[in-house]
Amino acid sequence: MSSNSVISPIFHDGVRDEMSERSEVSTGFSNVKKLKNAPSPIFHDGVRDEMSERSEVSTGFSNVKKLKNLSRQTSFGVTVRVNGDSRAIVLRVLDCALASFEILAGLIDVPLPLNKIDFILVPEYDGGMENWGHITISQSLATTGDDAHLIYLIAHEIAHHWIGNRATIDSWNYICLQEDLADWLAIKAVKALLTDEIRLQRFQLAQYVEIQLVEDFLSPGHSLYMPDKINQEMINRHCYLKGVVLLDTLESVVGEQFMLSVIKSLVGSHSSFNLTTFTSFFDQIRVDRNATVGEIYEYWYTTGGYPSILVENNGPSSRLQQMSRPLWPLKMTSTLSIPQFVFSESIVFASESAPLLVNLNFTSFMRVNYDSLTWTAIFKYMFEEPELFSAVGRAQLVSDFCYFYAQDSVENGEILKEAVLDMVYAKPEQFELCDWNLYWCHSRSDQSLFQQVVRSLALRFSSATFESSTAFGCKNGQAARNLNQFCEKIFGRKCI
Ligand SMILES: [Zn+2]
Repeated sequence: MSSNSVISPIFHDGVRDEMSERSEVSTGFSNVKKLKNAPSPIFHDGVRDEMSERSEVSTGFSNVKKLKNLSRQTSFGVTVRVNGDSRAIVLRVLDCALASFEILAGLIDVPLPLNKIDFILVPEYDGGMENWGHITISQSLATTGDDAHLIYLIAHEIAHHWIGNRATIDSWNYICLQEDLADWLAIKAVKALLTDEIRLQRFQLAQYVEIQLVEDFLSPGHSLYMPDKINQEMINRHCYLKGVVLLDTLESVVGEQFMLSVIKSLVGSHSSFNLTTFTSFFDQIRVDRNATVGEIYEYWYTTGGYPSILVENNGPSSRLQQMSRPLWPLKMTSTLSIPQFVFSESIVFASESAPLLVNLNFTSFMRVNYDSLTWTAIFKYMFEEPELFSAVGRAQLVSDFCYFYAQDSVENGEILKEAVLDMVYAKPEQFELCDWNLYWCHSRSDQSLFQQVVRSLALRFSSATFESSTAFGCKNGQAARNLNQFCEKIFGRKCI
């Protein structure tokens, strides 16, 4: 286990730390909270805390909360113990942790040399951090976060015991590979455990919107390959986002079982790894004469930018054109049977039976623009039958349209924009987080100003914004309020 105790990237977790940095910045609030909690003996009186375990009896010092700890054992014999100051929250985390651990252990199928994992719920702290056998979790996320985000965070930290601890990246250059693999596994746990389809769709929608925020404002044009000298903020702006979509796309090519066998081999037979180690598992799978899946994934990983394509449906044929440079090997899902990968700049397909629609539900990392008539048809259909699209599917089409409208790349864009706004505001319940997805429809004239000022501010609105249910309303959710604060700061007026 000595390899687990060296100073290495495993001890530096991403997204979540960014949030703790953020809370340190807002000194006004944190001082107030600290004063309130300061007299608590929670963190320096272990013995009494152990003794008062499970006891809700008041000591007379009614403000002094006692640390509770509850533990249970997994089916494979590892004790999971959760420490916090509210029994209900401790229990909630214990349930999530146990269930996530069972799912992940079943998926990865490599035993951990470990008897016990401790979870500590920490006030004044956002996100989570894992060390071998010891995970800290934000008490506030555990208290107010929705189930999806809580499971996601817990599962991500547990997954690091395999990807990050047992097998560790050999260079900071590949930190996103490690983080994204942990995320990819964590999201499997979320999908397995979340029975509420609406909540799952919300979680996926939040992930989608975060990706757009990062690609538009925080790290446009970035690749996942990190320089040698990096800091926490860089990790937060690059990992956990498009890289997870790329892993999902990779999975759609090779299948879940193959992906899991790769993780099992990686964890089972390597104490360290890098991008080459990872892609070597895919080098035997060819997609055509010239390219293997391993080469394609390496290209995706190391090439910056957000590919965008234009699809034009012209009666009996449809033309697909890559508008961005460099050209990407694009993995296609579509309404017609077209090749799985498109490498060329443009390609024409027969489409007598139906128009060509591609990448519905954001299965690949790309933006799609359509000709004006196809956009009209899509939104007419969406207005009439919104439930035939997923939450991400609706958001993605609105977001892509607005993006290309703002670029002046849609014919009759102005009329269509009005129709899109009408549709969204007529059925706000179908367009949660609408304000983010409509951003480019509202802000087309303010781009230059935006580019100058916004990047650092936009960071405030990433993950933390979407972790509780209140964030999701269209026009009146927390995210909308945040967006308005944001616009007032930048433009001196509300945007929505
Ligand atoms: Zn992590």
